Amino acid sequence: MDEIRVFDGHNDTLLNLHLPDRGEGRSFFERSELGHIDLPRAREGGFGGGFFACYVPNPEDDGWTEESALTITDDGYVVSDAPAVDPTYARDFADGLVASLFHLEEESGGELAVVRTADELESCLRDGTVAAILHFEGAEGLGSDPEALEGLYEVGLRSLGLVWSRPNAYASGVPFRFPSSPDTGPGLTGAGEELVRECNRLGVMIDLSHLNERGFWDVAELSEAPLVATHSNAHALCPTSRNLTDRQLDAIRDSGGMVGVNFAVGFLREDGGESEDTPLGAVVWHVDYLVERLGIDGVGFGSDFDGAKVPKKIGDVSGLPALLAALREHGYDEAALKKLAHENWGRVLRATWRG
Ligand SMILES: [Zn+2]
Repeated sequence: MDEIRVFDGHNDTLLNLHLPDRGEGRSFFERSELGHIDLPRAREGGFGGGFFACYVPNPEDDGWTEESALTITDDGYVVSDAPAVDPTYARDFADGLVASLFHLEEESGGELAVVRTADELESCLRDGTVAAILHFEGAEGLGSDPEALEGLYEVGLRSLGLVWSRPNAYASGVPFRFPSSPDTGPGLTGAGEELVRECNRLGVMIDLSHLNERGFWDVAELSEAPLVATHSNAHALCPTSRNLTDRQLDAIRDSGGMVGVNFAVGFLREDGGESEDTPLGAVVWHVDYLVERLGIDGVGFGSDFDGAKVPKKIGDVSGLPALLAALREHGYDEAALKKLAHENWGRVLRATWRG
């Protein structure tokens, strides 16, 4: 049986390699036990590439960290709202991550390529080059100039999440809460609406993961592109603010869009817990639910590798074949597995991008 290559909706590998206290100095080109993605493990796991996120953490001097903001409640947790970050700081930080992706491409000697068109993505999946999509997780990374999107598009940006889980000039992200509805705050600002139109004009994919529900509906009404959440799960199974309600899933389906299933245990488990002892079956459970709701053409993967705790049985990117085996065992045939693994991403990106 031919190996099925997986193209993946979300990783935080750039940040993980970039920050000394996260990546601990590991190299993308050497096999490590640290983090989730490096080239040798990617090869082992049949990783065909994915969205490489440029995520800007809150600066140390604003005092907010996910850990320090966490309060455990009787039935879950609340993470207090992250403050907005300064757009000039955000742009500087994002520029460093963009440079690091192009540096990886250069150093890889042709093993990794930043892709800008659906044809380039498909040819990478055929010939085994790891395909990287330059993605911004939070539009504050554009900086304070709203015209900056076009310049970054020229550089290679092809996907933009309007927000991470905090507010910015364009929209408000969901704070991490369990259990919680994703309806946590106001919708898009005027600048946010303008940015959606600009993304449509340029053919930049808009990522709805991390956006609150009112913002989601604003984009659903405005955007002409298929609706996409790169790394979110089913709220009906795991009621965290980061997951999608049935109504949201229906809107994604009706737009011809898709959802990338997130492997983060906290977004998989019914109890929202953070244990790596979460069975592979929890991923299969969400895949089943989403396929039922969206159809087999509306679901892919959005691992959150290098940004989240994932089930031990997956472990890191080299564990992707174990997930495919579990899905095969569960009854997904080869045609369905290929759709989940990369064909759906190819289709949605072709419908969204200009080339
Ligand atoms: Zn994320």
